Amino acid sequence: MTETSRRGLILINTGPGKGKTTAALGTALRAAGNGMRVLILQFLKGSWHYGELDAISALGAALGTPEDPAIVIRQMGRGFVKVGGAETDPEDLRMVQDAWNDAEQAILAGDWDLVILDEINYAIGYKMLDPEKVAEVLRQKPEMVHVILTGRNAHPTLVELADTVTEMREAKHAYQKGILAQRGIEF
Ligand code: ATP
Ligand code: MG
Repeated sequence: MTETSRRGLILINTGPGKGKTTAALGTALRAAGNGMRVLILQFLKGSWHYGELDAISALGAALGTPEDPAIVIRQMGRGFVKVGGAETDPEDLRMVQDAWNDAEQAILAGDWDLVILDEINYAIGYKMLDPEKVAEVLRQKPEMVHVILTGRNAHPTLVELADTVTEMREAKHAYQKGILAQRGIEF
């Protein structure tokens, strides 16, 4: 096997600019179109209803079956977190632990060709999840499984381990002009 033969990659979309999650969703489309099975676990997210939830549930059923969709997306949080040491709400911590347990199982089982851990870098950055645990599972993952991790401030250990790391740079963002999040673009 050479470095160029088929193998699962670890990718990270990080940095302060917009596009980390949407790039991961784009990759999910690309993978699903190639007949691959995709699982998207969203850490911390939960209270907002994102457009991708409906699009993916329709597409997942169409490409697979309603009982066994080809793409699955699950929100594993409640959309807001109080952060910082003692401030961390135990309920949020528990949800992150549950999300991580599911992620670990999904990656190691090899049932999915691509596993996307959306916003996991925030959970690690907020010290709700140990980056060493994540690194350990990524080191042990089945060879053909691809994993994408998103969120700002990716941990250096994970950056080191990853094959492809993209830093989104903010050149401009509408928010700076006071323009609020727009349906279809932001959510
Ligand atoms: P998107 O989901 O649009 O790809 P993202 O995953 O890169 O964004 P997150 O850090 O997950 O960014 O933040 C999610 C929300 O914050 C999105 O609504 C996004 O538009 C908004 N956002 C992202 N980057 C910026 C920025 N530089 N300034 C203001 N808002 C931002
Ligand atoms: Mg995001």
